Amino acid sequence: MKVNLRCPFCLTLNRLDLEAAGRPVCGKCSKPILVDRPVRVEGEDFQKLIADAEVPVLVDFYADWCGPCKMMAPLLDEIAGERSGRLLVVKLDTDRSPEIARAFGIQGIPTLILFRDGKPVSRQTGAVPRPAIEAMLDDARTPTA
Ligand SMILES: [Zn+2]
Repeated sequence: MKVNLRCPFCLTLNRLDLEAAGRPVCGKCSKPILVDRPVRVEGEDFQKLIADAEVPVLVDFYADWCGPCKMMAPLLDEIAGERSGRLLVVKLDTDRSPEIARAFGIQGIPTLILFRDGKPVSRQTGAVPRPAIEAMLDDARTPTA
């Protein structure tokens, strides 16, 4: 289960195996890349990540000034930890990557979009409780026609 992620230390783009033994590390600088918590991704890296991720990717479209986004943050931290290796949780700052927010028609934040095989399969807008997020993740296991 591989994903493309940029090392936060040396900025090398890595293709990481989430199921590799131990913690995924950067191929260049060998520092750990933490995937058991939400990962911040911007711009082109986001497109590369979504296009080639072998696990579902839950994207939190948020902004630093957004109160409801802050309320949801601990929930996303928990989900990222619990589903580590099977799901990647990504935070996308809509102020830093407005072109991506536009491309996915983000009208309000927070918006959560679940991507599978490069495509958005489910979305929720507004601060939603944990069961709603879990339902979104679990429903998406069954492909819909
Ligand atoms: Zn590195």
